[in-house]
Amino acid sequence: MKVFKFGGASLKDEKAIRNVASIIKKNAKENLWVVVSAMGGTTDLLERIIALSQAGKNFDTELHQLKQYHTTIAHQLLADTRAIDQILETFFDDLKNNALLTGDYDFVYDQVIGFGELLSSTIVHQYLNQEGVAAEWMDARNLIHTDSTFREGQIQWNETEKKIKAIRPHLKNTILTQGFIGYNEKKETVSLGREGSDFSAAIFGYCLHADSVTIWKDVPGVMSADPKRIPDAVVFDELPYKETAEMTYFGASVIHPKTVKPLANRGIPLVVKSFIDPSLPGTRIHECHIPNLPPLIVHKENQCLISCKVTDYTFINENHLGIIFRAIHQSGMHVNVMQNSAISFSFCVDYREHKVFQLIEALSKNFEVFYNTGLLLITVKNYDTKTFNKYRSEKGVILEQSSRAALQVLVKG
Ligand code: ASP
Ligand code: MG
Repeated sequence: MKVFKFGGASLKDEKAIRNVASIIKKNAKENLWVVVSAMGGTTDLLERIIALSQAGKNFDTELHQLKQYHTTIAHQLLADTRAIDQILETFFDDLKNNALLTGDYDFVYDQVIGFGELLSSTIVHQYLNQEGVAAEWMDARNLIHTDSTFREGQIQWNETEKKIKAIRPHLKNTILTQGFIGYNEKKETVSLGREGSDFSAAIFGYCLHADSVTIWKDVPGVMSADPKRIPDAVVFDELPYKETAEMTYFGASVIHPKTVKPLANRGIPLVVKSFIDPSLPGTRIHECHIPNLPPLIVHKENQCLISCKVTDYTFINENHLGIIFRAIHQSGMHVNVMQNSAISFSFCVDYREHKVFQLIEALSKNFEVFYNTGLLLITVKNYDTKTFNKYRSEKGVILEQSSRAALQVLVKG
């Protein structure tokens, strides 16, 4: 069995979905398990609906826009639209009701955010069946069990594996299911974090003992840098699990950071391939050794540098660090780079406005806090002298950190 994962960009319109269906059709003899994300831009729009609704504002325009988008594409693809029209009607009623739920923000968020995947998987499923690919739709939430950490569900591996193992012998057709979502024990939807569909594919791959997991992207494979920034970036034929996991840790957006581990644990190859040109070989991530890897450059945008300064002429000590790290942990944010001096400690996080300001407020009880936003974090792994010097002398560097393995610079603007 092979697992395929298609992201939002590969499902963004009628033409894109026809292309995805043709890739599935060509491989359908293999016993496929297909995981899809929401169609292009849907999750962002759902986030806007949630924010509006939770602020007590009207979200009819956004809801209408989302419904139009899905209905138009479904009608372009399907000859008989009676079934899909009814399903869409129900989904959008439920979506609206869930957006109006009250209670914890993250809980409400998760009761809404998964509709993107439910909608896309339903449309693709119907289209596949129309095109003669026998495909079965499955609700991923009945298989993926999580705890109740809304917006970042932690996988309950034992229950998840038991569920998937139980259905495995009965699988005949191509399975079509959603990424990004699971259920907690109360059967409430819990999402796995933004861009989490890759991780879902890895969970299924692991539990199914799949032969491979393929992530279909709009790039030819895993590259040494973002080709939009560095035109001479190269595509790797193969990469070791470890190297790939580290790249994602530093912010390479080609695969979600949690994807590699479960697959590495079972030695299941992870393949990154182009849905634009499926004839290209892509990158195979597996247990291998590659001598002389070129420098890998990862750009991470929208960073915020927070500096905590002690106010009473003492020095930053372990107690201060304890306070700072507890506050960061409680905020649910992750540190991307950090540095200390005698009287201050600085760290860089993704700029998620709401969370950042909560964190700054918490830290302000003990420190004088400064922050900068709109920063770019550049990480160079396996640097050579030339790249090392180039990135250190980049214009606007406000923080620099290097080890034997990697150089990181935080740049303004
Ligand atoms: N649709 C979700 C998101 O945009 C999950 C994913 O695409 O992987 O974050
Ligand atoms: Mg996506």
